[in-house]
Amino acid sequence: MRLTGVYDNTAEKEGLIHGWGFSLFISTEHKSILFDVGADLTLLVSNLKELEISPSELDGVFLSHPHCDHVGGLSGVLKKNSKLTAFLTRSFPAPLKKSVESYGAETEILTEPREIFEGGWSTGELKGFHKGQEIPEQALVISSSRGPVVISGCAHPGITRIVRRAREITGKSPYLVIGGFHLGSKKKDEVKKVIEKFRAESVNKLVPTHCTGEEAIDLIREEYHEDFVEFGAGAELTI
Ligand SMILES: [Zn+2]
Ligand SMILES: [Zn+2]
Repeated sequence: MRLTGVYDNTAEKEGLIHGWGFSLFISTEHKSILFDVGADLTLLVSNLKELEISPSELDGVFLSHPHCDHVGGLSGVLKKNSKLTAFLTRSFPAPLKKSVESYGAETEILTEPREIFEGGWSTGELKGFHKGQEIPEQALVISSSRGPVVISGCAHPGITRIVRRAREITGKSPYLVIGGFHLGSKKKDEVKKVIEKFRAESVNKLVPTHCTGEEAIDLIREEYHEDFVEFGAGAELTI
């Protein structure tokens, strides 16, 4: 499996533009999936081009939650590929679902945990909150020879809860967790507790990015040493 940072708060490669948002290209033996599509359509399209990822090769787009920094670039992909499947959740706003369908793309609406392609599961909708508002979110879990890989958008339901759900679904400890962990507002002690939970779940590698927060990322780097992986737009991981 190959994971490529397409859209992120930081860029790790020359020629790639950074911006607040998240999008990750996942290429497995079975499928090519884009996880979230960032905030800005032009930025997304430019980075995809720079990375030589063609939207027409995508089998699906997996959207974690409807915040604009995760769904903003959607039309840039759908305009070039209307044959893909968009994996959304029940609580996505109706206009967004309709706009996906208006391009002719199929939608799969998820509520409960389910295998959505060979070796790939949605965690189902987990209840989350952001600034006092309810914002349900799904994460993606993909099996690999080293163990499950967990991909998180913003982790509004809590990154440890997502990891726990991934273990319940697969029956295995996650090998790697990547994405937004949303720890920016947490105090140092609280972040340390989250890191302890990653250890308790036997998570091997941590790849915190997007909305995780700089201080939280520094703490994870200190605690996870060589099992911390720096990530951003243009970075690539092979598992
Ligand atoms: Zn976000
Ligand atoms: Zn969000």
